Amino acid sequence: MPMPRRARTALAVLLLFAASPAFAAAASASAYDALAAAEARVAAIGFRLTTANADWCPVRQPQFGWIWGDPRLYAADRRAEALRAYGAADPNHAFVAAFAPGSPAAAAGIAIGAPVTAIADAPVPDGAGAHPFARITAIETSLAARPVDEPLALQLGAARVATLVPIPGCASDFRVEANAKPGAVADGRLVLVNQGLIDFAADDQELAAAIAHELAHNILRHRARLDAAGVDRGLGKQFGRSARLFKQTEVEADRLSVWLLAGAGYDPAAAARFWTRFGQRKGRPLFQAGTHPNWRDRVAALETEAAAVAAARAGGRPLRPPLIGAPPPLE
Ligand SMILES: [Zn+2]
Repeated sequence: MPMPRRARTALAVLLLFAASPAFAAAASASAYDALAAAEARVAAIGFRLTTANADWCPVRQPQFGWIWGDPRLYAADRRAEALRAYGAADPNHAFVAAFAPGSPAAAAGIAIGAPVTAIADAPVPDGAGAHPFARITAIETSLAARPVDEPLALQLGAARVATLVPIPGCASDFRVEANAKPGAVADGRLVLVNQGLIDFAADDQELAAAIAHELAHNILRHRARLDAAGVDRGLGKQFGRSARLFKQTEVEADRLSVWLLAGAGYDPAAAARFWTRFGQRKGRPLFQAGTHPNWRDRVAALETEAAAVAAARAGGRPLRPPLIGAPPPLE
């Protein structure tokens, strides 16, 4: 049977399109579009978790609801393609890569990808020659040190100045790593979420559970406290006292994460759902056995905390998260 004319034309156009360099560029740019979309999700969840739970956090910082981008993060031959995903045209300046709905960055009408040329009247350093993330780290660190509610002027290109009024939040910034491994890490200042973890999460509730776990590590200052306790981050991590202390911090982060979810209006039961699927996933590394509790024990502990949240709510009592005031010593 001959192909109808319209379908033949469509097929011819499609083949022509697929063979053109423009199509090839569009196809590979989708990796950056996916990264930009992942950053938008993490910005939204990070902003909600940090600001809704601000009153519980011993250390706070101004939250603007954004994730920063920088042309220097991309190899020179991919840079133009990557910047297209953000609508960024300026190859030299840092830019806002994503922001949360309802955040100060959103309220100020900042355009994703617009070059940020000055922050609080100080020019943004060009960052040339340094580590690709050095400029973003410098920006985030200086902003985190400002008073939590002080307005901030941002110069966007030559003509436009935006004024942002931050919202106090738990101290943390957020970053998405273009890494397919389903992992995340908290270094005390940052929560870094791999794209592989974002893809693994079934929905935003589960992703919030994973991010809340990392944020809990930062709130409880686990990195600094483990370092102060002299733990072995090398091969010895898997054994003895170091393994025991790492495991303690994992249990603590799990417990607090459920309350952070509840405090931000997420489903506290999402933590048990996420870690059940994560524990059962294929190809999970066995080497975490020393430093991480068995996933069934983790899920049981998460369910206990979710039940405590539910009991407090049923009894009309305010939520009181564990550990924040006085986490047990790491010794
Ligand atoms: Zn952890």
